Amino acid sequence: MAGTRKVPTSWKTGLQRMAPGVYAYIQAGGLNVSNAGLIVGDDEALVVDSLYVRPMTQAFQEAIRKATRKPVRKIVCTHHHADHTLGLTWFERDIPVIAHRHMRERMIETGLDLAHYRGVNPEYADELKRLKQRFPDVTYEGGMTLRLGKRVVELHHLGHAHSKGDTVVYLPEERVLFTGDICFHYVTPATFDAHVGGWIRVADKILKTFPVETIVPGHGPPGDKRALEKTLGYLRLVRREAKKRFEKGMPPKRAAREIPLGVYAEWMKPDRVEQAVMKLYNEFKGRGEQGISLHDARGG
Ligand SMILES: [Zn+2]
Repeated sequence: MAGTRKVPTSWKTGLQRMAPGVYAYIQAGGLNVSNAGLIVGDDEALVVDSLYVRPMTQAFQEAIRKATRKPVRKIVCTHHHADHTLGLTWFERDIPVIAHRHMRERMIETGLDLAHYRGVNPEYADELKRLKQRFPDVTYEGGMTLRLGKRVVELHHLGHAHSKGDTVVYLPEERVLFTGDICFHYVTPATFDAHVGGWIRVADKILKTFPVETIVPGHGPPGDKRALEKTLGYLRLVRREAKKRFEKGMPPKRAAREIPLGVYAEWMKPDRVEQAVMKLYNEFKGRGEQGISLHDARGG
């Protein structure tokens, strides 16, 4: 039907209940506007990711206080990117921060270039000063199970996907999966730090082996399995199209301009296809571990 939009371009900011005591904190907006989560156990609560600048994290904390009186006693980080971890600054120091070993390593390796973030988010320039990274206190390898009383929370690291130290947070009883940035929903995936081939394997594995009913993505509104299928569809499309052009010897920036994105052209930040193609060219050359600098990554 003419005028009907199939791809939403905005959604609601705030806490949304996914299951009893399980919430997604969803934000709408542009670059570095990410999601978080809240899981309430018998005596304590756990937070998934901490968002980016102080106003975002404080609005999230306000929403937590309205949802539960139980204290936050654990924070899990899905990965090291600043839009998911800078907000750690605004949580109490004695709350342990849990992440995969590679997440901590990557966070230390990449450091924190605040001038870069002031450049891409001038609206938050004043907030992006004098901040220090806060690193995880507890790291795990493979997987880890947390028990908040009767509530079971599983952490899984399935390999280098969106970043080297990705964690997905899975609630087996409620069948809710917090994917971090392994799922982008109506927002073009950022791949500058990814292994796109690995990401395709990880997303495929989740879809085949986790009985998921609800997905809380790293960016965009919550959904069901189809949200992750769509992310996977994007990555497969771009890899297939980039491969054809790589084999013809076409330069990556031209290849990125030529790739027909179909419905994905309507997702926010479609120009991120360029970083995906640059990243894939590295992978085709056997340099899959090599990322794209934030400076060179169009679309952030
Ligand atoms: Zn990310």
